[in-house]
Amino acid sequence: FRTCVIGSMNMLDLAKNKTARILQASTSEVYGDPRVTPQSEAYLGNVNTCGPRACYDEGKRGAETLFHDYARMFGLSTRTARIFNTYGPRMAPDDGRVVSNFIVQALLGENLTIHGTGLQTRSFCYVDDLVEGLMRLMAAPDTCSAPVNLGNPKEFTVLELAELVRQKLGSAVSYVHIDLPTDDPQQRKPDISRAQAQLGWRPEVSLSVGLDRTIRYFEEQLAIDRTGFRAVA
Ligand code: UDP
Repeated sequence: FRTCVIGSMNMLDLAKNKTARILQASTSEVYGDPRVTPQSEAYLGNVNTCGPRACYDEGKRGAETLFHDYARMFGLSTRTARIFNTYGPRMAPDDGRVVSNFIVQALLGENLTIHGTGLQTRSFCYVDDLVEGLMRLMAAPDTCSAPVNLGNPKEFTVLELAELVRQKLGSAVSYVHIDLPTDDPQQRKPDISRAQAQLGWRPEVSLSVGLDRTIRYFEEQLAIDRTGFRAVA
């Protein structure tokens, strides 16, 4: 929470002193466990303020408030991207997120760790698409200072992702169901109409193509690191 809020304030003060434009990497977590789908920027969210995820969710929400206050009070040029689940090469193998976990587990012949039923959904955006969206947002006029969702609107269950990874790696691995973390959102799918209208942006890379590139990356890393890497559930 301190990193999100005090860190943002430090960076906002620096941007103000240098008269620099500043972009906040915000998150779909500001919507919490959403009651509406898809989530548009107008949706105000459903966040448990006291749960174990709250430091991140509420921290990012607090940071969004600061960005908008600095824009209003000091005329600072700010941008806020609400980033949905993003993946791709250069993720750390022990990152702990679902795409890296499943790929690493399958490469190591370990069972894929499904949290809960695996019926919860996420929408996965390939890193190159996300970077293109961020660059367009940063280059957009100051009329684009309101939050903008950046993510891939194609929604998958966690089980569907697991099956796709298994198919691609021809892997004999199975699934193991473990506890769902507290406050794990049940569904997540961005409404990207604002990004389309303001930035002319939409993702181009399908999950299948993005996974192929990410799998290749992790295979190379595994070959380089002779001690092997371990998946962290
Ligand atoms: N998840 C899973 N197995 C894993 C890691 C994550 O089933 O090994 C689930 C997690 O509970 C969530 C979804 O996959 O429902 C996405 O998790 P991740 O941590 O990648 O992103 P976030 O929860 O922040 O959207």
